[in-house]
Amino acid sequence: MSDVSIRPQGPKDPSDVLRDVFGHAAFRGQQEDVVRHVTSGGDAVVLFPTGAGKSMCYQVPALCRPGVAIIVSPLIALMRDQVEALRQAGVSAAALNSSLTPDEASLVRRQVADGALDLLYVAPERVATSGFRQMMNEAHVSLIAIDEAHCVSQWGHDFRPEYRELARLGALFPGVPRIALTATADPMTRADIIERLDLSGARVFSTSFDRPNIAYSIVERDGARGQLLSFLAAHKGDSGIVYCLSRAKVDDTASWLSSQGIRALPYHAGMDAGRRAAHQDAFLKEDGLCLVATVAFGMGIDKPDVRYVAHLDLPSSIEAYYQETGRAGRDGQPSDAWMSYGMADVVQRRRMIDEGNAPDEVKRIERGKLTALLGLCETTECRRKSILAYFGEAHPGACGNCDTCRSPVATWDGTDAAVKAMAAVYRTGERFGAGHIVDVLIGKSTEKILRFGHQSQAVFGAGKEIDAKVWQSVLRQLTAAGLLVVDHEGHGALTLGDGAREVFRGERRVTLRKDRPKKATDGRRTASASAADLPEEDAAIFQALRAERLRIAKDQGVPPYVVFQDTTLKAMAARRPASLAAMIALPGVGQAKLDRYGDAFLAVIEEAARG
Ligand code: ADP
Ligand code: ZN
Repeated sequence: MSDVSIRPQGPKDPSDVLRDVFGHAAFRGQQEDVVRHVTSGGDAVVLFPTGAGKSMCYQVPALCRPGVAIIVSPLIALMRDQVEALRQAGVSAAALNSSLTPDEASLVRRQVADGALDLLYVAPERVATSGFRQMMNEAHVSLIAIDEAHCVSQWGHDFRPEYRELARLGALFPGVPRIALTATADPMTRADIIERLDLSGARVFSTSFDRPNIAYSIVERDGARGQLLSFLAAHKGDSGIVYCLSRAKVDDTASWLSSQGIRALPYHAGMDAGRRAAHQDAFLKEDGLCLVATVAFGMGIDKPDVRYVAHLDLPSSIEAYYQETGRAGRDGQPSDAWMSYGMADVVQRRRMIDEGNAPDEVKRIERGKLTALLGLCETTECRRKSILAYFGEAHPGACGNCDTCRSPVATWDGTDAAVKAMAAVYRTGERFGAGHIVDVLIGKSTEKILRFGHQSQAVFGAGKEIDAKVWQSVLRQLTAAGLLVVDHEGHGALTLGDGAREVFRGERRVTLRKDRPKKATDGRRTASASAADLPEEDAAIFQALRAERLRIAKDQGVPPYVVFQDTTLKAMAARRPASLAAMIALPGVGQAKLDRYGDAFLAVIEEAARG
């Protein structure tokens, strides 16, 4: 398993390792600074967005420094994938976790004792134990990497108490450089990570959190299933995730999609472990599968070619939204983040917050986060600018790759409408939800209207000139602006918020967005369809290369992307190398992969050229 042959003895240069082992021609962004800092023994905190290439920041130093690197990772599936990808690149790596049999575990121990491993992935609950420390006594530890470091913070969304123990690593392994990595953008969590992991002396590396290859769009819900279907039509053959809030909705949506001819599988915590693992495995190993899931799925999923993430329900916050959508497009290729949302989501989220067991202070923060998310949904500005502004990052806007940039939102002076809507809320006693308020405004004599005598209110029918759909939108936007508040105690009743009085008095104007005609895709270029961005001749070769990759991956029982990623196959299709020497120049082709797969893929290219 060891691969001494491809790595010369003596101190290794990071750029050589990057090229020879991983097949990358150059470091990206600040990778090189991090790698050189850690390789020379410094501590680091790395705050890069998903897809920036955090793994290289510890994998390259691990191969440059003598000894074995300890990589703390929160999920077994994640460890397994990373180890497999490293082995494919000819690196000697192993994982130690509860999924191993005693025999397998003792093999790993022996490898550590023999100095045969370059990287050892370990679960957090194990790494701070005395048993582990003892085992590592016999080895030389080159560095300690703490992946998904936000798990140490309660402010983050994936708090894991076991991570708290990691504060002791500095004392347990004195003199060993430590590197903590996370894609968390929120400043409170970042500060907490540094404190909790005892890394105040570490150098902090951070970059913009923008994910330029992800196209954001958020649509008003109007027949969610139809909207989803037309969104997915642009993603035939692509892998993607559809998020739903409840397990029941996950099951329903997955079977409905299947009935529509889309290969879709459900994933949620209520399924038995075997079925869940099988579905996750299928998602990783097959091309073009739609996984319908609760947010229980996704953390630590390293699949680089997830082409879309769709939300059928509102996430809990902008942080969660960004984390979940961030699972798309790790490989830097065009990808879609799409969401359909409506007022019912707001009511549901409010109920979840209010009925939860969190202390009042936390509930207050969560309500604020929900309002901020609503603001993002209803913004007339560039979505990217709004998201990044939330994380304290300035972006000039006009990104050209979000729905509001691609088809700018028209606005209208909604002051009169706001006054009418808020009057309807106020005059009916701040006790009714959006549906009833709309009925009052348009003057619809429902049974409920008559029961409460609302037909005799002055506001009854005062908004006849405006369509019910538009009123729904007005109410959502007033809620996003904090002029109306969803009161859960009142079962989703709308009440007046701060600032309502100013509008009533004519001291504040209200500008509203005009909702677009409902089309899920609003005429954008399709983000991907995998090969869609390739010229026709290349696309055919690309598909043939993909088929070869799938065959090899199936043979070995590994995900296709650990063999070669899409970016590499696309480069092969475009450049059509005719020799091994030409092939190793392609991105993502290192020496070990060239030796193993070079001939097979050359044959596919030759065959395609002849045919
Ligand atoms: P992160 O952990 O930050 O989300 P990964 O480590 O998974 O990111 O890397 C994301 C993608 O970028 C992978 O497909 C990886 O192969 C690729 N990558 C990383 N570093 C480089 C580089 N220097 N040159 C080219 N591709 C790179
Ligand atoms: Zn934009």
